[in-house]
Amino acid sequence: MQDEEGSGVRLLRDRKGRIARKLRVSVTDRCNFACLFCMPEKDKISWIPTEEILSFDEIERIVAVLASLGVQKVRITGGEPLLRRDLDELVSGLTGVPGIRSVDMTTNGWHLERKAEALRKAGLRGVTVSLHSLRSDRFAKISGVDALPRVLRGIDRALDAGLNPVKINSVAIRGYNDDEILDLIEYARERRISIRFIEFMPLDGLGMWNYDRVVPGKEIIDTVAGVYPLEARGRGSSETSSIWRFKDGRGDLGLITPMSDPFCDDCDRIRLTADGKLLSCLFDTDYHDLRHIVRNGGTEEGLADTILEAVWKKPDGVGYMPWIKDGWAKPRNMNAIGG
Ligand code: SAM
Repeated sequence: MQDEEGSGVRLLRDRKGRIARKLRVSVTDRCNFACLFCMPEKDKISWIPTEEILSFDEIERIVAVLASLGVQKVRITGGEPLLRRDLDELVSGLTGVPGIRSVDMTTNGWHLERKAEALRKAGLRGVTVSLHSLRSDRFAKISGVDALPRVLRGIDRALDAGLNPVKINSVAIRGYNDDEILDLIEYARERRISIRFIEFMPLDGLGMWNYDRVVPGKEIIDTVAGVYPLEARGRGSSETSSIWRFKDGRGDLGLITPMSDPFCDDCDRIRLTADGKLLSCLFDTDYHDLRHIVRNGGTEEGLADTILEAVWKKPDGVGYMPWIKDGWAKPRNMNAIGG
């Protein structure tokens, strides 16, 4: 059922006909920040024990199998991926996997100043840096660390190092930073880099999510369009963001709207957690344990069969889970998934 007609190549097709082409690999659940919409109680969290975390070799082996099943793009994430020592070695290993066309990373930016150059040399294509406020006190309140100047230096360093694209991710939360949307956009425009606003999702550790705290994408566009002339570019097939280009040519704005306008029907993403579980959806409640196979003499064929079966059962997505807005028993926080 998952064979491509005539070609004999098996692809990661699910029940709805969606084909997975992009992989997010979480390399650790740990983070040195404590963002209130992600995993705010850093000191109370029991991290995944080190021995349960996949080694770089194990990640590369799983990615090679995924690539043989059609995965083309990898994004490294976490937790905070740059807390993993020698991450450039993983980048270089992954860029060498046949079939993988690009390796990018999402980071909080703390270690970027020091590591951007080595990452680019290792083959990292681009980096997305999370930046939710440009006010030091507020940045510290949201992320739990007084780190704004260092993160901004990290973004500049990433640009200097030639990482491309460099993008900004901002989670807009009503009452916390929704009055900074224009400031964040101006910051990005000055550097001609893309900025993406992500709607707050109910995957937070504090349980503070409710729909009133979500700033819908439409509201952001209404705010921005009053100041900057915009041209709608739409959402490319299987992309997460709807793109709006600034008519003066100074970059673009993306809106990621899983809550107000979900885009699950052409989702092509799957996730590998730091402890080797395959998740076919951010909102997947099933565990598909690949580490067990890798560490117990499983073959590439066995891995491929388990992966194909897991992806086949991919949930329809958050767009088909309206009850989520009234609260749900989320199985894990964002830091343990790899956003
Ligand atoms: N530590 C890295 C970082 O800060 O970017 C990578 C991991 S973080 C989980 C990946 C992305 O998920 C970040 O852009 C973060 O802002 C976003 N994120 C975390 N929790 C979220 C939530 N509840 N809703 C929406 N986005 C969230």
